[in-house]
Amino acid sequence: MAQIKINNIRKEFGDFVAVKESSFTIEDGEFFMLLGPSGCGKTTTLRMIAGLELPTAGEIYLDGEEISQRPPSQRDIAFVFQMFALYPHMNVRKNLSYPLVSQGMPRAQVKAKVEEVAGILGITDILSRPVGGLSGGDRQRVALGRAIVRDPKAFMMDEPLGALDAEFREHMAEELRALHDRMGATTVYVTHDQLEAMQMGDKIVVMNNAVVEQFGTPQEIYDKPATMFVADFIGSPSMNFLRFEGAVAGGAQHVELNGQKLGVPAQRQGASGNLVFGVRPEHVTLSDSGDYRGEVMAAEYLGTTQIITLDTPNGELKARIDSSLTANVGEKVGLSFEAPKVTLFDEANGQALI
Ligand code: ATP
Repeated sequence: MAQIKINNIRKEFGDFVAVKESSFTIEDGEFFMLLGPSGCGKTTTLRMIAGLELPTAGEIYLDGEEISQRPPSQRDIAFVFQMFALYPHMNVRKNLSYPLVSQGMPRAQVKAKVEEVAGILGITDILSRPVGGLSGGDRQRVALGRAIVRDPKAFMMDEPLGALDAEFREHMAEELRALHDRMGATTVYVTHDQLEAMQMGDKIVVMNNAVVEQFGTPQEIYDKPATMFVADFIGSPSMNFLRFEGAVAGGAQHVELNGQKLGVPAQRQGASGNLVFGVRPEHVTLSDSGDYRGEVMAAEYLGTTQIITLDTPNGELKARIDSSLTANVGEKVGLSFEAPKVTLFDEANGQALI
């Protein structure tokens, strides 16, 4: 069991606030992603869970027990660094044995444990090779093995695949996820790569500027972004934002955008002022009958789909449409939006209204 509950944690470095009051819960066995741009406070949050930094305020609970101020050695949480410090002159077996030998585990037990972990990671055949000459992927596996042999309650991983090239990274990401599914250990994983977070995570916390913007499953975060930041950060190309001034009456089925009626699902009552209509490119369709029109500026062919960039009365808009459809540059086309998939934001604070 390893449930990790974060309650209102805050971290200050002198006058600088790296993490502002943040709360979320990581359930036992979850593959949990901390996602956000560089400098938003992901690593600091991860380090506080592992005990490498102590929070300035707030509490961290591991299976209901408060661990906020405990040193790392009393938390039973393993931290896997991007550049994990392996001993290059030692072979793989010695690298894996080291954490157990230094704990005073009897030799036969160490051997059995190392072999079990090597089997899980598929590195049994390289146990006698020095780590210095191994490929990036094998080094990564040995690094993980070093964390796994100790049977910790949870794993903290800080951009573990950051140094790998794109193709290999994808392969290792699949391997890591499969390994997690076999072992079932609670894992907290820091990344700035939204695709990696969406593909690998059971849950995602999206951070920006030291605050948690949203916490949920990949689908919740994609379909119902809580803020404009999340809507923009997740998905490629990003969600379109069409800005307009208007008011949304309670229970209204439409908002008026430049005199055109656009369908939206049930809104919050009385929203008015500068509003933003958010729609993902795949929820925009070209329709001859659509009374909202845009001019095709560019088309980017992507195989089965194409991305069309349009100039509309409310700014630039991207649509992902089937490649078999024709959209000629300079042509004016009607557009329609899938109403249930639209999000409306208040521009003043970037919060979603629906
Ligand atoms: P990255 O992906 O770039 O590592 P991050 O989201 O993990 O970004 P953090 O490493 O948590 O961000 O850093 C958040 C902010 O806190 C940054 O502005 C960083 O410079 C600052 N910071 C982190 N550690 C310290 C420290 N020990 N002393 C002072 N400032 C720090």
